[in-house]
Amino acid sequence: MKTISLVVPVFYEEDCILQFIKEVKEAFAKLNHQYKYEFVFIDDGSRDKTTELIKGEAAKDPQIKLIEFSYNHGKQWAVTAGIKYATGDYMIYMDPDLQDPPEEIHRFIEEIEKGFDLVFGIRKEKKDNVVNVLFSKIFWWVLEKFTGLKLPKGIAVMRIFNRKFADKFLTYPEQNRFIEGIFMHVGLKQTTIEIQQRDRFAGVSKFNFRRKMKLAFDAIFDFSELPLKMAVKFGFYLMFLSILALLTIVVLRLFFIKFQIGWPSIIITIIGATGILLYFIGVLAIYIGRIYKEVKARPLFSIKELTNINE
Ligand code: UDP
Ligand code: MG
Repeated sequence: MKTISLVVPVFYEEDCILQFIKEVKEAFAKLNHQYKYEFVFIDDGSRDKTTELIKGEAAKDPQIKLIEFSYNHGKQWAVTAGIKYATGDYMIYMDPDLQDPPEEIHRFIEEIEKGFDLVFGIRKEKKDNVVNVLFSKIFWWVLEKFTGLKLPKGIAVMRIFNRKFADKFLTYPEQNRFIEGIFMHVGLKQTTIEIQQRDRFAGVSKFNFRRKMKLAFDAIFDFSELPLKMAVKFGFYLMFLSILALLTIVVLRLFFIKFQIGWPSIIITIIGATGILLYFIGVLAIYIGRIYKEVKARPLFSIKELTNINE
């Protein structure tokens, strides 16, 4: 019998977690217990009742497993830890807020059983407010332009993948982890299915504007060399332009008009050039910072406690 691991990052989800476990159990019961399943929860440093509630369930059911981070690392690292400790033949990655509904689980299983390595859930429309929807449209558009990653449109969190895919995923050692990018980079045989989404069951979204900006920033700098290439191109054009301008002035002065070559033009040139230089030194600094982080190669996460899991 095949085992399915549910990889679920949790961060302040005390209002959702029990309902989530209940609905997932119901979904598997409807599958006539053709599959074994386990929950792999990764607590990303919540300080509410989330872990207490999960541990309560874990005491009754050894298939409920919990990895507790020492402090908040961010969702990307939580997912990575979950995939590392999951033992299933297939893994379903989903959030516990029930935006991705458990009743769709059987469709994911049916689809991957056709021989795919990864099945993405695609949502028709995002159940979210207008600002968030607009923001995520812009985000994915910019990302595609910068990175050339062909991410499926309307990609949801919920997805299923097999052990082969998970093992490949875990060979990506990078510290700056843009999960969707890594998923696309792993590649293999992928497909998508359309799913219905619900509203968040309870609680609030943890991704405020600042966090979303950070994600966008990570995505661009981790999966694109475009900012660096832009610097080179821009610098080249500028050099070309200044040589042209110089020649023009010399020719004008020598052969056509007598004029004062005043200091304002010089000042403006200095300011402009300094600005451009500083800007691109900044671009370089960002990449160097990231290289530094990778070179340190610190462990990706710090685990405080494991429940129902042997190291
Ligand atoms: N999450 C996490 N660490 C964080 C922020 C969020 O593990 O630092 C989890 C959170 O518990 C949830 C998922 O990531 O399961 C997605 O977060 P949320 O539902 O708040 O975001 P949204 O669905 O609004 O994008
Ligand atoms: Mg959510």
